[in-house]
Amino acid sequence: MSQSLLKIGNSFINRGQEYECLDRFEYEIPAKWVWVYKLRTICPDCGRKFECTATKTQRKNGLMPRRCERCAAPGRPVRTKPCG
Ligand SMILES: [Zn+2]
Repeated sequence: MSQSLLKIGNSFINRGQEYECLDRFEYEIPAKWVWVYKLRTICPDCGRKFECTATKTQRKNGLMPRRCERCAAPGRPVRTKPCG
């Protein structure tokens, strides 16, 4: 058994951003199985909730997407809203 498996319904904070685990499943890549989480978080740019997936390794290394697909653009810093 693996120690740090997220459970469905759990949420966690990564770099100040909250992620909620909606689902998880095992995904077969050549030669091994990996856990993939389906996560929901709030885009810091537009405030919209969006869903994304991340592997356990991505989660461990803090490599989950932070912004929705519309706002995601390489090299663009994450803005925080001026108020609230
Ligand atoms: Zn956005």
